[in-house]
Amino acid sequence: MPETSDKIHDIVVVGAGPSGMTAALLFASVGFETALVAPAVNQEDGRTTALLQDSVTLFEQIGVWDNLRSFATPLSKMRMIDDTRRLVRAPEVTFDSAELNLEAFGYNLRNKDLNRVLAEAAQEQANLTLFEDLAVSYDFGEESVSVFCQDGAPLKTRLLVAADGRNSQAREAAGIELRRWSYPQVAVVLNLEHDRPHNETSTEFHTPTGPFTLVPLPGRTSSLVCVVTSEQAETIKTMSKDDLALELEHRAHSILGKFGIASSPQSFPLSGLSAKSLVGPRLALIGETAHVFPPIGAQGLNLGLRDVASLGRLLTSARDMGADIGATEVLSRYESDRRSDISTRTFAVDALNRSLLTDFLPVQIARSAGLYLADKVPPLRRLLMREGIAPGTKRKTQAVRDNVY
Ligand SMILES: Cc1cc2nc3c(=O)[nH]c(=O)nc-3n(C[C@H](O)[C@H](O)[C@H](O)COP(=O)(O)OP(=O)(O)OC[C@H]3O[C@@H](n4cnc5c(N)ncnc54)[C@H](O)[C@@H]3O)c2cc1C
Repeated sequence: MPETSDKIHDIVVVGAGPSGMTAALLFASVGFETALVAPAVNQEDGRTTALLQDSVTLFEQIGVWDNLRSFATPLSKMRMIDDTRRLVRAPEVTFDSAELNLEAFGYNLRNKDLNRVLAEAAQEQANLTLFEDLAVSYDFGEESVSVFCQDGAPLKTRLLVAADGRNSQAREAAGIELRRWSYPQVAVVLNLEHDRPHNETSTEFHTPTGPFTLVPLPGRTSSLVCVVTSEQAETIKTMSKDDLALELEHRAHSILGKFGIASSPQSFPLSGLSAKSLVGPRLALIGETAHVFPPIGAQGLNLGLRDVASLGRLLTSARDMGADIGATEVLSRYESDRRSDISTRTFAVDALNRSLLTDFLPVQIARSAGLYLADKVPPLRRLLMREGIAPGTKRKTQAVRDNVY
């Protein structure tokens, strides 16, 4: 193996998905001398991401929100419609951000725009060095971690942040165990044009194969995440644009009028993953390296960005107190800060997805009763809305009012 240079970076982030790029930008912006090792950013991603308020705050902090905002569409209302056609069905529920005195629950953005803006900011961030390379192996030492790359020279760092995704080699090299599971479903993603305005309302139909979700984009366009069986996903791929537009309009009960297909469908088989530990020797896992679950309720990347914010906060305070940022005690704090949020979201999304798939009547009744109460009991509605945005939102809003932060 080639010799590692003597220079020790404060932090090396591996992986330039949205979690890795945001983390590298945050660490560099608060004064850590940071390196980002990753192949060129993926510009073929046809998905969109609904970014919730905490994510927007983080993007403001790293100075990219003004650029992102011009590509983002506000999500003011979220509507859920039970389209399972089962014996027991839930009532329709609409959550309105105005009930929380918010302009919007969040903003929908094309992943291509998100990734491009983050990559441009990374080029300009003074404290951040970019290595367009693949990390291939690691040596976890007492004082530092060595990162060996496919083409360039190895790097040394006090702390390795693994953001190399669901098949992370960094996680594997550190011997961190995982739980993996799969679902009998595929998410088909594409963008649509439509006749009627969406009025900044995201609509989620709960169907027997999973959610069918229309999320607003600029003007009379929306993104669609349609969770179907793998056979149905194959059929969709072979349909002509006109037939597909008609089929999707039918599934959407024409709520947005006539559909036109604005992008080719892309498929994402659904699966789940949970790392048994979020930390290793001088190592922290963030984003999909640590947790993966189905795309329901716009939770995945928002959860990953809360990992980033938490890690940034804890590392800054450790450094300010003169502590070693790669020390076990610092990393243990990250583990305990993030564990409950990750477990709760993973469990809730998994339970909702499975409740749609099952024909077991008690589960159908429980899901319907939950949505009925969410519709009829205002304090529960508000609690669900706040928790949907981020855990502890009420406490944070109160703390801001009381000038605690
Ligand atoms: C259909 C769908 C819709 C979704 N919608 C939403 C939504 O509305 N809201 C939301 O919050 N979330 C959503 N998600 C989830 C969200 O897309 C993911 O959470 C997010 O993309 C994960 O980003 P990441 O940076 O953690 O991982 P990734 O995007 O997987 O990034 C990993 C990166 O690591 C790099 N890498 C891999 N190996 C190496 C190596 N050896 N060396 C260097 N680099 C390496 C890869 O090239 C890649 O760029 C959705 C997911 C799906 C499937």
